[in-house]
Amino acid sequence: MVEQFEEMATGIVSVARGFYARGWLLGTSGNLSAVVQREPLRLAITASGVDKGELSSEQVILIDEDARLLNEYPGKPSDESLLHTCIAKQRGAGAVLHTHSIWNTILSDLYANDGGVRIEGYEMLKGLAGVRTHEHSEWLPIVDNSQDMPALAETVSKILNEHPSAHGFLIRRHGLYAWGENLAQAKRHVEILEFLLEAMGRAIEIKQSELNRG
Ligand SMILES: [Zn+2]
Repeated sequence: MVEQFEEMATGIVSVARGFYARGWLLGTSGNLSAVVQREPLRLAITASGVDKGELSSEQVILIDEDARLLNEYPGKPSDESLLHTCIAKQRGAGAVLHTHSIWNTILSDLYANDGGVRIEGYEMLKGLAGVRTHEHSEWLPIVDNSQDMPALAETVSKILNEHPSAHGFLIRRHGLYAWGENLAQAKRHVEILEFLLEAMGRAIEIKQSELNRG
């Protein structure tokens, strides 16, 4: 398992660098995890409060299914680790990635009253696993933000049940969660969803300024 953990930690560092460069993990925001072992569940995950732009593999820690720290590390697991274990268990995901981008933050607020964002008609949707046509309609649920992680994990679990085909969800004024069967697929899903949210956000902005010009 040590080898598997080290491989996941290296992969997480590489994904973090790329996402940080895109502005999706500024400061110490966001967290990234990958399954090291399924039974019992073991996750490699970024530790709490670490700068994602300068992440090293020593800052990736090992946790169990209740998000308890299993290896020696001076810090603690992120409070949001519970959401990662919840998604890994319920979706059978091999990796769970959480970003705090400008556009996912804006759209998570703009569409909060609708309970989600509908994304349809875009070619880029085909980058989501199982999607074969741009005519696909993706529903990205939005849940309210909370600092009560066990309660938020329960809400997330309910949302995952209600939307079995969703590839991700948003937390209001907070960020995006997406996952995949492995780190590569989860990374692809984040890139696709971030692209689509930004495209929609920019389109709204352009339409609005055209309306204002009359
Ligand atoms: Zn967060």
